[in-house]
Amino acid sequence: MKYYSTNKQAPLANLQEAVVKGLAPDKGLYMPEEIKELPQSFFDSIADMSFQKIAYTVAKAFFGDDIENNTLKEIVYDTLNFDTPVVHVADNIYSLELFHGPTLAFKDVGGRFMARLLSYFIKKQGQKDVKVLVATSGDTGSAVANGFLGVDGIHVYVLYPKGKVSHIQESQFTTLGQNITALEVDGTFDDCQALVKKAFLDQKLTSKLNLTSANSINVARFLPQSLYYFYAYAQLAKLGKAKNVVFSVPSGNFGNITAGLIAKKMGLPIKRFIAANNSNNIFFEFLQTNEYNPRPSIQTIANAMDVGDPSNFARVMDLYKNSLDEIKKDISSKWYTDEAIKEVVKDTYNKTNYLLDPHGACGYQALVEDLKKDEIGIFLETAHPAKFTETVEDIIKEPVSIPERLQAFMKGEKLSIELSKEFDDFKNFLLS
Ligand SMILES: *Cc1c(COP(=O)(O)O)cnc(C)c1O
Repeated sequence: MKYYSTNKQAPLANLQEAVVKGLAPDKGLYMPEEIKELPQSFFDSIADMSFQKIAYTVAKAFFGDDIENNTLKEIVYDTLNFDTPVVHVADNIYSLELFHGPTLAFKDVGGRFMARLLSYFIKKQGQKDVKVLVATSGDTGSAVANGFLGVDGIHVYVLYPKGKVSHIQESQFTTLGQNITALEVDGTFDDCQALVKKAFLDQKLTSKLNLTSANSINVARFLPQSLYYFYAYAQLAKLGKAKNVVFSVPSGNFGNITAGLIAKKMGLPIKRFIAANNSNNIFFEFLQTNEYNPRPSIQTIANAMDVGDPSNFARVMDLYKNSLDEIKKDISSKWYTDEAIKEVVKDTYNKTNYLLDPHGACGYQALVEDLKKDEIGIFLETAHPAKFTETVEDIIKEPVSIPERLQAFMKGEKLSIELSKEFDDFKNFLLS
């Protein structure tokens, strides 16, 4: 399979080039040249298939030409060694719990898949000293860092905004040591993302260093996120509830929702999507006005969605050939202030006993407000509420129990290097 750039000014790349480069040389995002539809027989039997088996079938449609079957199967089975269960929350509303992986957020899926695929390519090429750059608003850093921890030949640099991620999130990528370096940037997430993007456009850096990116712009992180949409559908089908399915996706950089759009293109019978946002409502405004006005992100309690210029917006536009009308047929948008998010977490906990995290709360509430009578809603619960202990405890006025694998991170010692948001500081650091 070949990958083209959304800016259409770069040569086609094969999978290996797209994964190693991350961003295309014309600053566009790579897209698969072909999105294969899966046969009806697959959908007829999906309700009785395991997550791993479903995932392997879907992954073959993307990666089957580029990786031998056995290796791909190993990568898929090893990546998805945890469950993503669908849980009933309220009338016709289900939670797709994506937080049962090692760092308790959905980014484990893409992070683990990418780490395995990249190591495979690097070994094949006999490369050494590959530097993975990743900007994080909270959860990416931990998923990517834990995915790559201890992998030979790869060093991961996690850039995160100082003071703007939760204590637990921070502990998940600053305490690891080994081949993981945490860079604490005096700025916002957008500043971190800009530093990473600039690094790939810098002649001196790209000629001297083997750089790659592990943000959701990378196809190896982005595409595997389609896998759990299929499995979620399978679980609803098993319950006899797979009619007029609406996915509500808490969105920041729009990687997760775009993976869902691709699943739909592959034939998964999804009726429509809702992009659920916090006060960073650029996409909502775009749907209203057909104008895309990126702006600096606003800090919220759903901090992993504090994005003012969603990088995967380019992919959404590309999938729908820049047509607002076509986009609106498939996607609507809802957004919530911090106050609204707090109300939702509290109310839902009191009424249903289901504890939402601040991100999932946006997804859930969008369904509560928007679901039609004949629809089944499923929201992506993108992180475990305990990742935001202080915020959630403050809302429900009760202690939140912290899963053991989270507690283990909190015992480690914080190791981080402070940087300004000036590109030259970052550049000098990488070169030193
Ligand atoms: C990253 C993240 C999001 C946003 O996902 P995108 O793919 O960037 O839209 C939502 N919720 C949580 C908990 C996250 O970590």
